[in-house]
Amino acid sequence: MIDSKGENAGVLSARPLLVRDPDGSLRLPALATVHSHAFQRAMRGLAQRPVAASDDFWSWRGQMYSLASSLTPESMHAASLAAFRELARAGVRTVGEFHYVHHQADGTPYDQRTLLADVVIDAARQAGLRVALLRAAYHRAGPGRDAEPGQRRFCDPRVDDVLRDVDALRAKWTGDPDVVVGVAAHSVRAVPPSWLAPLRDYATRHGTMLHMHVAEVAREVDECVAETGRRPVELLADQGLLSDRFVAVHGTNLLPHEARLLGDARAFVCVCATTERDLGDGLPDLTALRTAGARLCIGVDSYALVDPIEDLRALETHERLRTRARVTFRPAHGTPAEQLWREGSLEGAAACGFADAGGHVVVRRDHPALALVGDEFLLDAVVFGCGAGVIERLDRDEARETPRDAKPPSRQAKRE
Ligand SMILES: [Zn+2]
Repeated sequence: MIDSKGENAGVLSARPLLVRDPDGSLRLPALATVHSHAFQRAMRGLAQRPVAASDDFWSWRGQMYSLASSLTPESMHAASLAAFRELARAGVRTVGEFHYVHHQADGTPYDQRTLLADVVIDAARQAGLRVALLRAAYHRAGPGRDAEPGQRRFCDPRVDDVLRDVDALRAKWTGDPDVVVGVAAHSVRAVPPSWLAPLRDYATRHGTMLHMHVAEVAREVDECVAETGRRPVELLADQGLLSDRFVAVHGTNLLPHEARLLGDARAFVCVCATTERDLGDGLPDLTALRTAGARLCIGVDSYALVDPIEDLRALETHERLRTRARVTFRPAHGTPAEQLWREGSLEGAAACGFADAGGHVVVRRDHPALALVGDEFLLDAVVFGCGAGVIERLDRDEARETPRDAKPPSRQAKRE
């Protein structure tokens, strides 16, 4: 393992990851993508042309808001189903859905307040995924700024409204072994500091995961300092949010001591490499995070493209670009490729609140991408030389209980 702090990680690292079936096929733990906004799948290809004098994260966000404003329960379900089916074909068994589009376009709640969360969960189940629905709290445009019109359907006036919806979702989906409900704070920009303690207390009381966008762009760091006198991770540490059930999404703009705060808490950091590079966010200091003992995992985030192997590979290849070095970390056990796969599967499932990977992906030994590769380097070749197209199929472990209103998931989902 990268660090000496992780008992869980130590146990995980003792398991053989790559197993050869009698027919020669290779089996690996199914993949997990910890940070998803499924509706953004409908944006693919739509934000790749200039729209402003100088395009950046914020001009992309304006385009995303116009899509979010147009969503209906039906189109939310359709986009989510397309997104989740694409994930399943790419070997993903577990998705963390960071859900923040809650209400009608003008901000009025639906009669059934959790309608949009429910349709997203339904879509995930229909696609054969396990889902952690992370119901996000959102209140404002930023410090001292009310929500903009395009943000109203994300917003709740009181943190109690958020927690009541989490309660309702937990009550509705309890007993479905493929659904976990957790809490999210959207960001230090959208959530006032006074909401952090109630969200923390709820997650602690009910043992749920707590996810949050952290330091994706420099402006939100500056605004947080101006409002609170603290950088985002300092504020979260002060408020007691950091723990082994906390998932910091992005972590792009951290100082070394913030990486240490996350590592000391054994928190997860979810890196969404293919989205972060699409948005021009910048590169996180993964060496600092690994050294500190933070638990890395991956997220598809905006669905700019879907390739979880590219996402986990980028944890190393982007760090090579950032540091102008090769092979930037040495796991205490196993190879870098084994560690990266572990982060893309078992660690990701844990960050979503699941105890295991929930299945396996199968790769054919005679796939053309593995020609000329020696047996001892197969996993290195899959991680550093293959895309998700190398995955033959996803084998799901049997669910422990039959979900209500659903047929048992099929044992194998052949690629469509
Ligand atoms: Zn996000």
